[in-house]
Amino acid sequence: MNIFYYDIAVGLPLRQCFTYKSKDVITKGKRVIVPFGSKSIVGIVVKKIAKPKSLKGLKEIISIADEHSCFNGSIFETITWASDYYHHPIGEVFFSFMPTLLRKQNDKIIMDPDNNAEYKLNEEDKKLKLTKEQKINLSKLNKVEKFSPSLIYGVTGSGKTEIYLQLAEKFILQNKSILILVPEINLIPQLEKRFKDRFNGDIGVYHSRQTPNQRLKVWLRSKFGGIRIVIGTRSSVLMPLKNLGAIIIDEEHDQSYKQAEGFKFSGRDLAIKRAQIENIPVFLGSATPSLQTLKLVKEKKFKKFDLLRRVDGKKPPKLIPLDISDSPLLGGIAIQTMSIIEAAINKKEQVLIFLNRRGFAPLYECDNCGWVAKCSSCESNLVFHKSKKRLICHKCESVYGVNKTCPDCQSNEINTLGAGTERVEEVLRSTFKKVPIIRMDYDSTRLKGSIEAIYKKANKSKEAILVGTQMLSKGHDFPKVTLCVILNADGGLLSPEINAIEKISQQLIQVSGRAGRNNNLAKVIIQTRYPNDENLKQIKTGDYRLVSEQCLKTNKSLNMPPYSTVAILRATSPSPESCFKFLDKANNLLNDKKNVSVIGPLPSIPLKIKGNTRNHLIIKSNTRTYLNRVLKYLTNEIQTWPETKKVKWTYDIDPYDMS
Ligand code: ADP
Ligand code: ZN
Ligand code: ZN
Repeated sequence: MNIFYYDIAVGLPLRQCFTYKSKDVITKGKRVIVPFGSKSIVGIVVKKIAKPKSLKGLKEIISIADEHSCFNGSIFETITWASDYYHHPIGEVFFSFMPTLLRKQNDKIIMDPDNNAEYKLNEEDKKLKLTKEQKINLSKLNKVEKFSPSLIYGVTGSGKTEIYLQLAEKFILQNKSILILVPEINLIPQLEKRFKDRFNGDIGVYHSRQTPNQRLKVWLRSKFGGIRIVIGTRSSVLMPLKNLGAIIIDEEHDQSYKQAEGFKFSGRDLAIKRAQIENIPVFLGSATPSLQTLKLVKEKKFKKFDLLRRVDGKKPPKLIPLDISDSPLLGGIAIQTMSIIEAAINKKEQVLIFLNRRGFAPLYECDNCGWVAKCSSCESNLVFHKSKKRLICHKCESVYGVNKTCPDCQSNEINTLGAGTERVEEVLRSTFKKVPIIRMDYDSTRLKGSIEAIYKKANKSKEAILVGTQMLSKGHDFPKVTLCVILNADGGLLSPEINAIEKISQQLIQVSGRAGRNNNLAKVIIQTRYPNDENLKQIKTGDYRLVSEQCLKTNKSLNMPPYSTVAILRATSPSPESCFKFLDKANNLLNDKKNVSVIGPLPSIPLKIKGNTRNHLIIKSNTRTYLNRVLKYLTNEIQTWPETKKVKWTYDIDPYDMS
């Protein structure tokens, strides 16, 4: 009887595969049940291998879970690429892209749930008559048939969504399927509705707020052709759609495409890789593309398609810095700003107020002795949430009661300082008693259907004020807004972070794109104490091309990404000393390597989370290949170190956040 040997990946943070034997021939990518320690767990077949030299202790695969493979050819290949590129344990990468119900042993197996999907164009949904610009670009985009990344660089309101719809139509009519990625769950309903109106047939959505059963269903129906249009967040990037025709990445610049915890991948970059492996078109849309994408356009690796005009023919809104250095603020709003808001409300217009901070106040402190409420495990300041009557740590989400007296001096002169969206909402409510005030932030959109309710309310009302965090700046269409107010741009303008200017300019220009979609007189007011700031001067032109050119130049001269490649080695430990020593050892190891520069160990921000100290090392190189080689070497070394018993470590490749 023949015996075969296989390398199996398991869903644990282990950087190796395990060898098992079996009497069966099993294709790669299949789920199997294997004995592991005293348990049996789910594993993925990575490859068939030659008979190992030693067969001692070699265990046998208990069973093959499904008839069908979990990861077919190109998806399997994308996963192995990702594990290599991000230097992340392969089993965890496989498991990241499996519906949770398939990660465990249960009665859920991979089988064909229904027949093939049929899609027809809904003739009642009038296709918009394209503008000249839309038409020219669409006809060029329609000619893209193989892998060739296309940047749809369209100012806000230039009608990118209609282009996506008509592009999708082409693939659907060819019996192919299409995957549309968005950076945030809240952007799904609006897009889903546009696709539902346009196509008769099921539109699948996939994101982390669905139940495990919902996710499994969409995944299975995609795999077997029951759904051919899926809209999802980064976790859907490897949706096993049958006969995939193209991938659309909306708002490609958005940093939410990067997963911040665990397997830290970029949904955008992985989508591009998948498209390359499958040799299919990938379309990236944005009004404010990432520097990385713009650099690739310069190098002619990406093609650029410009939409410079808004569909309504109106000029983009003016960005006006408003000097507030001598003004008292009420809930973050200066007196002058308040009268501008009032004028808009009196004209029965809608106003959007942007503030990048949720909760009521970012500080809760004692006026008598200066005590400030801090999280006991992270040491970061607690944010006062008035509606919940709680102090909340925004780093670890720990929740604390609100003390009435100071724990240090027993004074009862405890006060809040600064403003978050809740306070702004409260101040506006007391100023404009009859005007609907609509808040849109993490706290107000967590419940299912809340985003739809926000749209409904905004559409129904005449005058209204929308208050929100960066969530409000992304891709939403609020046609009645004529005035945007940005309350705290200074934080972004003055930030020492490497990509601060890229980030703040994208944010300001995106927010301003929410205004005046139907109106000539749109205005964007930027409250600032630094009206003469050089960067602000550029940003206020509203021309992202100027700002991004400048950012590219700066980063080139500093040899920063996208002109170099960066990895961060992060370490955390209950013992501050072990954490530092571990990184110091890594630093010493890389010291004599040419072509890489290492900075650190540095304290991370925040220094502590849940009682663990955090430090990091920045590793930079001019070439990706070299960085990869160095990280491979480092990984192999680290795995032999006894220090790893006390320290948890991970890599962050192409980090957005270097602190
Ligand atoms: P973008 O995503 O580029 O910011 P959208 O796709 O949201 O812009 O389009 C902005 C608005 O213009 C939407 O309300 C959309 O329905 C409308 N629109 C798009 N294309 C056309 C067109 N050709 N004619 C009329 N209205 C259009
Ligand atoms: Zn005190
Ligand atoms: Zn905390």
